[in-house]
Amino acid sequence: MRPGAPPFRCAVMSHVMPTYKAPVDEVMFLLTDVFHVERYNNLPGFAEATPDLMQAVLAEAGKFCEDVLTPLNRVGDKEGCRRHADGSVTTPSGFKDAYKKFVVGGWIGASAPIEFGGQGLPTVLTQAVREFLCSSNMAFSMYPGLALGAIATIFAHGSAEQKALYLPKLTAGQWSGTMNLTEPQCGTDLGLLRTRAVPQPDGSYKITGTKIFISAGEHDLAENIVHLVLARIDGAPQGTKGISLFIVPKFLPAANGALGARNAVSCGSIEEKMGIHGNATCVMNYDGASGWLMGEQNRGLQAMFTMMNEARLGVGVQGLALSEVAYQNAAAYAKERFAGRALGGAKFPDKPADPIIVHPDVRRMLMTIRAFNEAARALVLWTALKGDVARRSGDARERQAADDHMGLMTPVIKGVLTDQGFANTVLAQQVFGGHGYIAEPGMEQFVRDARIAMIYEGTNGIQALDLVGRKLSKDGGRALRAFFAEASGYIKEHEADAAMAPFVRPLGQAVAELEQATMWFTQHALGNPDNAGSGAADYMHLFGLVALGYMWCLIVDAAKAKAAAGNDATERMTAKLATARFFMERVLPASTTHLARIKAGAASTMELPAEAF
Ligand SMILES: Cc1cc2nc3c(=O)[nH]c(=O)nc-3n(C[C@H](O)[C@H](O)[C@H](O)COP(=O)(O)OP(=O)(O)OC[C@H]3O[C@@H](n4cnc5c(N)ncnc54)[C@H](O)[C@@H]3O)c2cc1C
Repeated sequence: MRPGAPPFRCAVMSHVMPTYKAPVDEVMFLLTDVFHVERYNNLPGFAEATPDLMQAVLAEAGKFCEDVLTPLNRVGDKEGCRRHADGSVTTPSGFKDAYKKFVVGGWIGASAPIEFGGQGLPTVLTQAVREFLCSSNMAFSMYPGLALGAIATIFAHGSAEQKALYLPKLTAGQWSGTMNLTEPQCGTDLGLLRTRAVPQPDGSYKITGTKIFISAGEHDLAENIVHLVLARIDGAPQGTKGISLFIVPKFLPAANGALGARNAVSCGSIEEKMGIHGNATCVMNYDGASGWLMGEQNRGLQAMFTMMNEARLGVGVQGLALSEVAYQNAAAYAKERFAGRALGGAKFPDKPADPIIVHPDVRRMLMTIRAFNEAARALVLWTALKGDVARRSGDARERQAADDHMGLMTPVIKGVLTDQGFANTVLAQQVFGGHGYIAEPGMEQFVRDARIAMIYEGTNGIQALDLVGRKLSKDGGRALRAFFAEASGYIKEHEADAAMAPFVRPLGQAVAELEQATMWFTQHALGNPDNAGSGAADYMHLFGLVALGYMWCLIVDAAKAKAAAGNDATERMTAKLATARFFMERVLPASTTHLARIKAGAASTMELPAEAF
């Protein structure tokens, strides 16, 4: 607390409803000062996205999220979605109107290709907007979020006719999208899926089966819903090698997009669940519904990975987003709530007590969240930039390197940002004491909403296995080598700089630990795969710490330069240096524990027979 700072508002709790302020300046700092987005001006869409335009887009999106979506977050939680006897579903009050405004604003197609009605803006910009949307209203954000996944998948795998028919409607928000993988008997192991596809003489298929837990499966926001469905064509091999991907629209469209008859797909029920009540989680019944194959027969899972990877990054952003909004509210509360005295003596002797922000333990919680949020946002934007390079660069080598990065980072971002994002919502709830457990201040909703992000789009255990079992060795370890080369190159370049030592040295140690962990797997997991399985979650978190530590070093570099320039950002930049030191001293050392657990191997984890549980 600065001497002479204005007195805090009131000892009585004024913080009864959660609030949200979109971190526009933070995003702009990362884009312009840390990642020098102007260096990407050779990519289509980037030169047009000048800093002024980006600032304006972010400010506009932020305002929409603050003014329209934030007030609806609690409404959605309390009302939930309602299914009617005819299978239709009504979203919570206000969602329809907000969706209309969102569509009119052109937000869904902001980064979609111009040829299909999008605006072609850099994805890095819309990824930042995605954070704002999730922070203000995660349940709402999932409706357009799933449309984005469908757009990416149809763009990558659809035929020319499918693209022409579906993409303009999806980018305009007139139609929305879903992904239908999960069935009652299988979620993780899609090789077990039973939904059938029977070929028809006209080239279409009849789809029959039951999908469960389908987000946004039925609702009243868009005029049509485009379901992307995994099914097995009659006679196809069992297991994952016999799965194909189909487009199954709710209303059958004519070639010009005019809506036709209702397809034989319906919502059988909606789930009662822990959080995200404003998003309809549906059981979807396919009763001989007409569907069209997308991509090659039996290669559906590979095609669906486009949607899953898109969605996994989006889910990682959900973890960050809820951590951010929870932090903002906890920080405000810590300055308003008075309890006890500062350990070193009263800071507000004229008041009956000091605000709880004076207490080191409350600071510990706030700093832990803050140190995560700033670096996690950098990691998301860095990776989104790579996504833009992977999709837009004219240079094949650049595209490949960026694609490698995306593949490696996707499970890390999904797993680490949602595990830690959830943990952070609990920390922020703790700052509120008993009031955190009460519905009114909204903290318990953040905890409930954040929890699902660790589960769907592949549980975090599966993300860790994907990282260790697939991504490390993919293409002879090319992506991993590139990551190590970049981090080590940075450390070498800065190790002689005394001012950077408090940041670069701990990062160097964590990188060395990650290298040791990788080596340990190479030596001990081939002979005993359980050694990889039991260490995978720790490896993913160790990787995440290194990636976040590297982000902090880049942020510190940029913040020092900006602080030295002596403008009105100096105070904000100086705060970044303190937050970076906290990360290096109090968060990053967990890397040593992760390494120790990995090296312990699987023996004690696997020793007990199943009957002993
Ligand atoms: C609110 C909500 C929304 C959802 N939205 C969608 C959606 O839009 N579309 C869709 O298709 N699905 C959706 N899902 C489903 C979700 O993706 C699955 O629930 C998830 O993938 C896990 O599958 P499962 O529930 O069958 O768990 P299981 O596969 O039964 O897994 C149970 C546990 O075992 C672990 N496990 C399983 N296999 C392995 C293994 N080989 N190695 C190590 N551990 C393993 C898992 O990590 C998990 O902890 C949603 C679910 C919910 C709750």
